Amino acid sequence: MDTGNYCLACGKKLRKFRVSQEYNNRIYHKKCFETIVNDVRNFHKVAFTKYDYEKKYSNGMTLEENRKDKNPLVVTFD
Ligand SMILES: [Zn+2]
Repeated sequence: MDTGNYCLACGKKLRKFRVSQEYNNRIYHKKCFETIVNDVRNFHKVAFTKYDYEKKYSNGMTLEENRKDKNPLVVTFD
């Protein structure tokens, strides 16, 4: 994968490493990659806050979509 030496996570330029060959084709900063790994590990905690994942309701729509729906769920009392 060639990202033009820009980190996929933060978009900043990656520094070239001359020490180790293994970093020649890297696409993330080491720190950014560790952040990603941590986020994946804690995904259930950060998914809805850090990332823009939206909770889906039982009808398969997000809260926003439910609000905009022309036929919203109607609660009736018999
Ligand atoms: Zn980065």
